[in-house]
Amino acid sequence: MRRVVCPGSFDPVTNGHLDIIGRAARLYDEVVVAVLINISKQTLFTTDERMEMLREVTKGYQNVTVTRFHGLIVDFCRANDISVIVKGLRAVSDFEYEQMMSQMNYRLAGIETLFMTTNPLYAFLRSSLVKEVAGYGGDVGGLVPEPVLTRLQERLSSRRREQQAGQPEPG
Ligand code: ADP
Repeated sequence: MRRVVCPGSFDPVTNGHLDIIGRAARLYDEVVVAVLINISKQTLFTTDERMEMLREVTKGYQNVTVTRFHGLIVDFCRANDISVIVKGLRAVSDFEYEQMMSQMNYRLAGIETLFMTTNPLYAFLRSSLVKEVAGYGGDVGGLVPEPVLTRLQERLSSRRREQQAGQPEPG
């Protein structure tokens, strides 16, 4: 059984993530999508919400499961009998950091990291940029799966209402 992990924040999952997950699912017996619980980082969606969206958009893949993790990814791998981390590489700018992490993870636990180059359609895509563009009313349709687009728009408009309610009256 060849089980691999695709780790990330997935705040929220984009079509770029989904492309990597789908390609990994065709190569391996089982793909575990592991959502990082990062208490120090402000996220737009809670860990549960991020997992829910991932489950919904990967439900067509029989061999993909979604879970959460915190701490070192290598400890998660050891506990779950996973020997390979699969990551997507968008551009040279991703490379330096990812290379350092992969070498550290190999040194810590002998865990290999396999890189897949991004689908060129999604090379510019990252969750933070999607949130920023959508926050200013830009059209991010086609960049995130449909159910994610709906939830993103709902969350951003409720954030805007909260901010407006918290602002002092002009003048
Ligand atoms: P981000 O916030 O940058 O989208 P994540 O931590 O959620 O980052 O990303 C998890 C993994 O998915 C990383 O390996 C990242 O390189 C990969 N990834 C993210 N976006 C893309 C994309 N557009 N194409 C390929 N891989 C991607």
